Amino acid sequence: MCRLSEWAGKINIAGELRPEEPLAPHTTFRVGGPAELYARPCSEADLRALILFALRHQVSWFVLGGGSNLLVSDLGVRGLVIDTSELRHRSIAGTTLTVGAGLPVSDASAFAAEHGLGGLDFIYSMPGSVGGAVWMNARCYDGEIYDVLRLVRLVDPDGTVVEYTPRPEDFGYKRSPFMDRPGVMTSVSFTLQRARPDDLWPRMRAHEADRRAKGHFSAPCAGSVFKNNRAFGRPSGAIIDSLGLRGFQIGGARVSDLHANIIVNTGNATASDIRAVIEHVGGEVQRRLGYELEREVLYVGRWPHDE
Ligand SMILES: Cc1cc2nc3c(=O)[nH]c(=O)nc-3n(C[C@H](O)[C@H](O)[C@H](O)COP(=O)(O)OP(=O)(O)OC[C@H]3O[C@@H](n4cnc5c(N)ncnc54)[C@H](O)[C@@H]3O)c2cc1C
Repeated sequence: MCRLSEWAGKINIAGELRPEEPLAPHTTFRVGGPAELYARPCSEADLRALILFALRHQVSWFVLGGGSNLLVSDLGVRGLVIDTSELRHRSIAGTTLTVGAGLPVSDASAFAAEHGLGGLDFIYSMPGSVGGAVWMNARCYDGEIYDVLRLVRLVDPDGTVVEYTPRPEDFGYKRSPFMDRPGVMTSVSFTLQRARPDDLWPRMRAHEADRRAKGHFSAPCAGSVFKNNRAFGRPSGAIIDSLGLRGFQIGGARVSDLHANIIVNTGNATASDIRAVIEHVGGEVQRRLGYELEREVLYVGRWPHDE
């Protein structure tokens, strides 16, 4: 059987195709081995060509947005990794903003504000793409993506292009229907409201300053590692902190000194170091308090003990 990398020349897309592309530079943890075949489609047509190729040759695929909620294994990812970062068109019609799913969500927020549209200001300065934010129903500063979501256009695993209109019952705390439905979002529309840029920007800059103060940008990380759970009475960070785990370190991976629900790559961490810290912290919380924290960061790729 042919290695997937040898198929690269047979896929006809305008975007880039690279065998054995290291994924560390494409993730905010800055760790992770190579993608067997990495593709960066620059249109929906490219994306369909990739999906149909994968279907025909029974190749597994994974969608990479901004890589800000992922822990990619040191061994890397078998199959096709589809990077959406070239899908970044932007347009406004009335109060509807439509953007490519690969556009950084913070750029979508800024673009809306520059055009006098509010509603996405809560997410300014959050890392990641629009598609990733929809997938996670990302939330912060009293807002969540579902509040403004109007329409999602996606390519299904059989190559069909479909449109999805959000239904309230499909969304929840850091939950979206895309978690249970394979497909690649290509374009997302938001319903926003007219607002004065001068009213929006101070709020947006305050969010950015707050994130900076919490150390979000001071070392490679993936934001909160565990979801919060109301039943536990306190945010996950406070629970982890109460066990004295701030500063806990394995190899180059460390529980942040500034926020106990963030794990940072101090410079030379491997994905296995980070996973070991995550599992130690989750295990300690379970053993000492009986709470099972739900992991928010996704493990991607081949892990040594899964082989
Ligand atoms: C410093 C920092 C702060 C953060 N703060 C917050 C916060 O306040 N609130 C919050 O909710 N999150 C936060 N996060 C986590 C992260 O930014 C969000 O979860 C973000 O929405 C992930 O988007 P992404 O594009 O990076 O997705 P990725 O990490 O690349 O992927 C996440 C999932 O989405 C899927 N996906 C991505 N794009 C598509 C697409 N086009 N079609 C189909 N599936 C897709 C991927 O396959 C994967 O399953 C933070 C992260 C960092 C590094």
